[in-house]
Amino acid sequence: MTAPALDNEQDRLKVQNSSQTRRNGVPSPRLHLRVCENSSVKKLAILGSTGSIGNSTLSVCESFPDRYQVVALAAGSNIDAAYAQCLRWHPKVISVATEQLAATLKTRLKTAGITNIEILNGTAGTIHVATLPEVNFVVSAIVGVAGLEATYAAVCAEKTIGLANKECLVAAGELIIAAAKKHNVDLLPIDSEHNAVHQCMRGGTPQEVKQVWLTASGGPFRNTPIADFDRITPQQALKHPTWVMGQRITIDSATMMNKGFEVIEACRLFSLPPAQVRVTIHPQSTVHSLVEFIDGSILAQISVTDMRLPILYALAYPERVPVTEKDALTFDLATLSQLDFSQPDLTRFPCLRLAYEAAETGGRTPIALNAADEIAVAAFLARDIPFLGIPRTIEAVLQRTSGQPPASISEVLEADLAAREDAREVIASQTTGVRK
Ligand code: NDP
Ligand code: MG
Repeated sequence: MTAPALDNEQDRLKVQNSSQTRRNGVPSPRLHLRVCENSSVKKLAILGSTGSIGNSTLSVCESFPDRYQVVALAAGSNIDAAYAQCLRWHPKVISVATEQLAATLKTRLKTAGITNIEILNGTAGTIHVATLPEVNFVVSAIVGVAGLEATYAAVCAEKTIGLANKECLVAAGELIIAAAKKHNVDLLPIDSEHNAVHQCMRGGTPQEVKQVWLTASGGPFRNTPIADFDRITPQQALKHPTWVMGQRITIDSATMMNKGFEVIEACRLFSLPPAQVRVTIHPQSTVHSLVEFIDGSILAQISVTDMRLPILYALAYPERVPVTEKDALTFDLATLSQLDFSQPDLTRFPCLRLAYEAAETGGRTPIALNAADEIAVAAFLARDIPFLGIPRTIEAVLQRTSGQPPASISEVLEADLAAREDAREVIASQTTGVRK
């Protein structure tokens, strides 16, 4: 885990200010003014603003306008949502996926009389948003490796990171963690399990941790007979029992690959070997995760199943922000009647087994795990492969992948592209495709 620290820009300014005060006996008016401006409001860039996490983050900003200011946004292709966000939030900059989409957005905003928002596009645009000098907190919530370069750039630009994009850590965790240590940047997990672990970790030192337990709902097929798995349709797999999320993560939850990614994410974030990151099936999704300490104590984090809560925790860290009834984030313990925990069945969920194996092997295998999964999930949603075609595709791709670690983000992206190509070949060669 990265060392707890306050927002870097604020810290730096406060240190500058206090040393200046000590030297001269009188604070510098200019610096003092900047501290006042910065210490009360965190200035946010939200990468993936039009997605599920992006919208939840904006909802938190809506509830706490005196604490969080939206400075920059990065979206993909949902221009209607990007346009609505520009009207509501007036960011300084917004980036969208392509030049054409940027031109469309510019025209629509001009028609609405708004000409003072800078509109960028592509990876360069997303990186610009993530590294704007006036931003001090970046929420990384683009789905998949599309968010990797901007997240890495934000770390190198010394922004505090609220990290939802787990695929970044799966594919390039070692490089991101090394950069975060080098730049003394906090990576604050938004993924609910890691957010829970982060909270529980405050109850002891890293040396006192025996292991962590990530909870998993078990998804919609926890009790489905394995014989029926190949008849599972995308519609069935998209119905998550407890969370409403983007399509990719919802399918990943149904295969439990999401939990596999989270095992790797936890290894990276908390510097733990895979054997110390355990998974327990907890259908109620009430306990978001647990940390077991060497003295036998287990700390658990309980809260509502609402992503606004881990987002608020990350934004506010190291403080805690009081919420009211109106925010609907409080948990009524009196309504809690049952908490179940059981061991995951790796035969039922081969993706979880593959993720543990990739975590052990390391190198380029986690990159291939994520890339092959993304291609396989898209093929399943397009009804090109059956549900069990997802783990079959990933396993075949992993067998072709080297354990050689990537030395740079560009090597990560090369390995990612190679694994995607392998996955497409494997899918094309499969003869078990379902009829559309
Ligand atoms: P969504 O699919 O709802 O949103 C994805 C976001 O990424 C959208 O804003 C989308 O833009 C944007 N995007 C996609 N491709 C690009 C691109 N090439 N360039 C720029 N932006 C792009 O996903 P979620 O919000 O559910 O998940 C986001 C991340 O958070 C994932 O990594 C997920 O694993 C993680 N996470 C999500 C949780 C949840 O509850 N949803 C819980 C824990 C983690 P657009 O829509 O405009 O195309
Ligand atoms: Mg999660």
